[in-house]
Amino acid sequence: MSQTQVSALVNTLDDYDSIIGSAEIAELRTLAARLRGRTVQMVNSTAIGGGVAEILNRMVPLMQELEIGVRWDVITGGEEFFAVTKAFHNALHGEGYHLPDESFKTVLANAEQNRARLHFDCDFTMIHDPQPAALIDARPKNGGHWTWRCHIDLSQPNQKVWNFLAPFVNRYDSAIFSSPAFSRRLPIPQYLFYPSIDPLSEKNRELDPEIVDQTLARFDIDANRPIVTQISRFDRLKDPVGVVRAYHIVKRYTDCQLVLAGGGASDDPEGDAVLAEVREAAGKDRDIHILDLPPSAATEINALQRASTIIVQKSLREGFGLTVTEGLWKKKPVVASAVGGIPSQVIHKHTGMLAHSIEGTAYQIRFLLSNPAIAQKLGENGHEHVREHFLITSDVRRHLTLFLHFLRPN
Ligand code: UDP
Repeated sequence: MSQTQVSALVNTLDDYDSIIGSAEIAELRTLAARLRGRTVQMVNSTAIGGGVAEILNRMVPLMQELEIGVRWDVITGGEEFFAVTKAFHNALHGEGYHLPDESFKTVLANAEQNRARLHFDCDFTMIHDPQPAALIDARPKNGGHWTWRCHIDLSQPNQKVWNFLAPFVNRYDSAIFSSPAFSRRLPIPQYLFYPSIDPLSEKNRELDPEIVDQTLARFDIDANRPIVTQISRFDRLKDPVGVVRAYHIVKRYTDCQLVLAGGGASDDPEGDAVLAEVREAAGKDRDIHILDLPPSAATEINALQRASTIIVQKSLREGFGLTVTEGLWKKKPVVASAVGGIPSQVIHKHTGMLAHSIEGTAYQIRFLLSNPAIAQKLGENGHEHVREHFLITSDVRRHLTLFLHFLRPN
């Protein structure tokens, strides 16, 4: 069994002292001491691309430093499986489901294959998102505590897909959601855990301004004119074409450039088609920069976010939106759709601006471009909001507390 390798840039817990303070670090060590020798298994469907991989890449080394025996396994699957699970993803976010009933068999067959391939022998097993949810069948008799962590907005799921998934979810010992609105009527305890970012990762650490300038030059972006940016996988639910339309409205009144940067995730087969749609919508406008980035482009994303005047996240549906968290952490004014977990992060007129349409997004972008002092204040508030709620260290603390809770008798 091959375990997933985590990112090379590894910081130690003490490196977080200047960000969260020594008391919080001491708390993590105290909690972890009571879990020493315990084992944790994280399972998801991609090692690169997307928010879950982003979190696990940082959480796993931190837990290892705390001497918890954590390992991260990624399920494997063919094209057909990931086409079905992408359709699941969209359907659970509330879209229609148009695949034949045989598609459910593809998911079951995949679970069977991964069940044979992976070992399940840990005290705590955490299965992330719907793709591997059927692995619950692999739980050994009297096996450890199994939790399903759901990162997507389940508030209005397509009933057919949810009816397929729910019997698996019901058999877990507990479930974790990213927002109270996503919880479902389940016979198991449910917990609220916000997703998180690592302030010291390559994606988020402070950058030398020279690197920011070099990145802009490399992509032929003008550092002297406003830059409006959306970083996202090329996915219709991120509405990149809607961002282009909002930009067209803004551009009638205010000079600016648009950066749409993203790449694919190995479990997302729709990226190429969406990228083509975005290119078509952008036409020949030289102020629209569509960047198809490789998964290794963390520093580039960091630099693009830091160079931006405004960060946009115009998702039609969104589990949480780590790209919003990343923008807020960099003290950027964020304009984002009021969907899914985004309003937990963007508190309207306090940590950013919420919008409900293309026109609304354009309006808020224009407003912030003409009110830099307000934009700056939003960014500062956003940074503090992230520090308080959405850092990886808080996410680790919530995990440790939950594991200790699971160990209590009865
Ligand atoms: N991301 C990336 N490269 C890309 C697009 C996105 O590294 O080309 C990162 C982005 O910076 C963020 C994560 O992937 O950390 C996306 O998480 P989010 O919750 O915003 O959306 P998801 O892709 O999980 O739906």
